[in-house]
Amino acid sequence: MPELPEVETTCRGIAPHIEGQMIKQVVIRQPKLRWPVPETLNQILTGLTIESVSRRAKYLLFSTASGTVLLHLGMSGSLRIMSTDQAVGKHDHIDFIFNDGTVLRFNDPRRFGAVLWTSEPAAEHPLLKNLGPEPLLADFNGELLYSLSRNRKTAVKSFIMNSHIVVGVGNIYANEALFMAAIHPTRQAGKLSLARYRKLAECIRVVLQQAIGQGGTTLRDFVNEAGKPGYFQQQLKVYGRAGLPCVSCSQPLTEIRIANRSTVFCSNCQR
Ligand SMILES: [Zn+2]
Repeated sequence: MPELPEVETTCRGIAPHIEGQMIKQVVIRQPKLRWPVPETLNQILTGLTIESVSRRAKYLLFSTASGTVLLHLGMSGSLRIMSTDQAVGKHDHIDFIFNDGTVLRFNDPRRFGAVLWTSEPAAEHPLLKNLGPEPLLADFNGELLYSLSRNRKTAVKSFIMNSHIVVGVGNIYANEALFMAAIHPTRQAGKLSLARYRKLAECIRVVLQQAIGQGGTTLRDFVNEAGKPGYFQQQLKVYGRAGLPCVSCSQPLTEIRIANRSTVFCSNCQR
C-alpha cells in the first residue's frame, strides 16, 4: 500500500512533467473508485493549467486557478507519465491528457483510490480540514505529541497512527519509529514523558525521510512505458521481522496485534 513516502515520491516524480501544463482532456474509463469520480471533471478541467502539484497527508493536490484536484492512491493506485499512443491497460481508470501530448495515467486495480474536485480552498475540504500536522514540517514536534497525549490511555502506537494527531505515520513507520525511539508500542500514550516524545517525533521524521531518500532512486520509473512505479522496499529493522534477531541486541523480535495491525518490537530494547 502506498504510504506517505511513496506519495511524496510520486509527487516529486510527476510534478516536473505536469506543472505549468494545460489540460486538453480528462478521460474517465471507470468512475467507480472509493468515491464516484465527478462526471463533470472533463468539462471542469479542460483548458485549465496545473499551477502546482503538492501533497497533504496521502492526498496529491493539483492546483488550478479554479480549484483543486484531490487524488488519493488508495490501496493499490499508481500514476505514470506516458504519451497518448501508449496502450491502455486493464486498470487504467483515468487519463489526464495535456496539450503537449503528455498523459498522466491513474491505474488502480483495487479501486480504493479517489479522484475528486473542489473549487473551495483545498485545506477546507472535509477530507483535509481536520487532519493533524505534517510529520516533516516544523509544527510537528515532541511538545505537540506530549500535550495532545495527556490523559490518553490508548497505546502509543495507535496514538501516533491517528491522523488527527499527525498524518502519514502508517503501520510500517509506526513500528520502525517506536523501535528507533526504544519505546514499547503498548505503552499508554498519556504516560510517556516529554523527553521520550521529543525522541519519538525525531525518529518519526528520520524513518520517513530515509524512506523518501530511498524512493528518490525510483523517480525515473514514473516515465516507464511498462510496469508500474515500484513501491520501494525499505530496509526495515522490525516490521516483517517477527522471530528474527533484533538488530541491536539479537533477542528474537516479538509480534503482537494492536488495533488489529501487526506490531513487531524488541521486548528487551523497547520499554
Ligand atoms: Zn533488542
